Amino acid sequence: MPKIYFLDVTNRDGVQTAKLGLSKLEKTMINIYLNEMGVFQSEFGFPTTRHESLYLKANLELAEMGVLQPIRLGGWIRAISNDVETAFKLVPGIRHLNLSISTSDQMLKGKFQGRKKKDDLISEMVAAVDAAKALGAESIGVNAEDASRTGLDFLIKFGLAAKEHGADRLRYCDTLGYDNPFTIYETTRALAENIGMAIEIHCHGDLGMAVGNSIAGAKGTIDGGQDVYVNTTVNGIGERAGNADLVAVILAVTKSKGFAVKYQLGNPIDLSKSAKIAEFASYAFGVDIPMNQPGVGANAFAHSSGIHADGVLKDPENYELYSFEELGRGEPVKVETGREIIAGQYSGISGFSHIMGKMDVKFADREEASEILELVRYANVESQKPLVGEELLFIAKYPKIAKKLLTLIPLE
Ligand SMILES: [Zn+2]
Repeated sequence: MPKIYFLDVTNRDGVQTAKLGLSKLEKTMINIYLNEMGVFQSEFGFPTTRHESLYLKANLELAEMGVLQPIRLGGWIRAISNDVETAFKLVPGIRHLNLSISTSDQMLKGKFQGRKKKDDLISEMVAAVDAAKALGAESIGVNAEDASRTGLDFLIKFGLAAKEHGADRLRYCDTLGYDNPFTIYETTRALAENIGMAIEIHCHGDLGMAVGNSIAGAKGTIDGGQDVYVNTTVNGIGERAGNADLVAVILAVTKSKGFAVKYQLGNPIDLSKSAKIAEFASYAFGVDIPMNQPGVGANAFAHSSGIHADGVLKDPENYELYSFEELGRGEPVKVETGREIIAGQYSGISGFSHIMGKMDVKFADREEASEILELVRYANVESQKPLVGEELLFIAKYPKIAKKLLTLIPLE
């Protein structure tokens, strides 16, 4: 039986969101938390974007060191041979790529303005796949952008050409959130059956159906006989109305009526990391978690009406589908109400040693403490907000990697 895998795109679609962004250290922490959860792949950035190079290389180094293992780190680029060459020039260690091109008539007319014909899309895409293979790509996903407004016959032709040239997955992008669970089921099933290659499901929430469409697409792909890679973002952060929320999709796949009997995960997911990753992403993006967000919202396990409160006290299963402990909730949150010493871009050694001492980090000597503090100052300059404990611990543990993450050299 084919299986369900998760391919999180927070560090690509999430950071493309208007008005939002993440520092390179924050992106790295997201990769670490996704890895801890058991997410199969993180689309960790843009290998043709110069300011990402050192971050991408540093994360590939973390993978080599075994820190970012077993998660796969994949880059997103346009399906253009030149971009493939640039990607391997700037990030030679990159091994997993998604190559993207718009496929709909709307985009041919409205975006390419008639400069490209349908067959050009396929020839450019296969040339990019060939180039990526030749340069050492170990896995390739080919993205049909605006796939939900693309004819099925053309999508099949596009997918078959990609497969013939050695691609591993077709990303079905419902770029505008135009599908509904019924249409995406039919389409993904037909794609899986006719192409015979794994399908990625990439859904947006413009009509409020990103999670529902994601599991319908997963079902369609598996019923069509292929593995499915569901694209998610943490807290659903993504362009416009956002993407399918990571935790909500995992809950839908594992807890919804009868679904998990037939549609199973390719590898185990540790749901107990849900609260941590959601809270970190919320802090890093500066976007509050809505109180009614599935699993991780403040009200997800709150009951006040008489009948519900009485029922849940007698047996939680009366009014809860899953337990808060499963999602890593339930520990009291400590908020400092007295004196606070915070590490920032103008911190000194005494305050910094105090903060690290509280987390049981001891430095060999003053010199080492100064070196770590300097990196913390730079990290604070980039994020413009106090670092969380785990970011400080990361810098103290991997100062060389942190230095790469914090180095930006424009106009080289
Ligand atoms: Zn998207």
